[in-house]
Amino acid sequence: MTGQSMLEPNDVVGVALSGGKDSVTLLRILCKIEKRYPHAKLAAVTIDEGISGYRDEAISISAELCRDLGVEHYVTSFAELFGVTMDRIANERTELRPCSYCGVLRRKALNEAARHVGATKLATGHNLDDEAQTALLNVMHGDVERMVRVPVSSQMTLTGFVPRIKPLSSVPERETMLYAYTTGSRFQSAACPHGNDALRGDIRSMLNRLEFKHPGLKYTICSSVDKLSGPIAATKLRRRIRSCILCGSLTPNDVCEPCTMLKSLNVYPLATGA
Ligand code: SF4
Ligand code: ZN
Repeated sequence: MTGQSMLEPNDVVGVALSGGKDSVTLLRILCKIEKRYPHAKLAAVTIDEGISGYRDEAISISAELCRDLGVEHYVTSFAELFGVTMDRIANERTELRPCSYCGVLRRKALNEAARHVGATKLATGHNLDDEAQTALLNVMHGDVERMVRVPVSSQMTLTGFVPRIKPLSSVPERETMLYAYTTGSRFQSAACPHGNDALRGDIRSMLNRLEFKHPGLKYTICSSVDKLSGPIAATKLRRRIRSCILCGSLTPNDVCEPCTMLKSLNVYPLATGA
């Protein structure tokens, strides 16, 4: 996707700010760009998943950065939106890993947060390494739906869904790290106590070894997925989208994925009706 099609001069861009190096780098760069566009606006959104001893530091780093940059900062939490914390989910005996719940619920929470700040786009800090790892994981799991990168123009047709962009998706991780260091940024580097995705870790190491021997391989993997994405997206978008019978979010099924997960955890109905 080109930078031109990602953003418009009058966009209100919600930036998903976790406090890690990628999102800190993204916010700093978008802040510089925003200054050239008087009708554009930035607002950072942070999700507190409820991970004790981990998220608190990230939230304070995020708040400090937003104060320094003069950017509006909105924080919401899994507890507030869904009545559950990641610590509690991680303690439940569940079929899925904590990260699977966290990813799905955070996606929904980010959409709610982006809507709250009036965002017309939601920017996330995924870098090239993240994208290449995810592409291989999706192939390994045969997850055709997740392989699709729905163009922003198609995302904009979905009511209630804030279109997502990934401005750093072709920037290697080491460059986002370098930018964070050279700008003297404070960012969280501690690992999440619930993050035990061994397969992603192995793919990451393998890709780094292969990239060293075959420079450009990570780009090649991502662009191959983009090529496959077109025909799959056409089919996916033809599927009937309806409102989740529990929360009203758009979904191809009667009940959306976050509600299905929350039901399996016996924490439905949502604490706040979000
Ligand atoms: Fe959530 Fe997993 Fe990331 Fe921890 S490592 S914040 S549980 S996705
Ligand atoms: Zn739902």
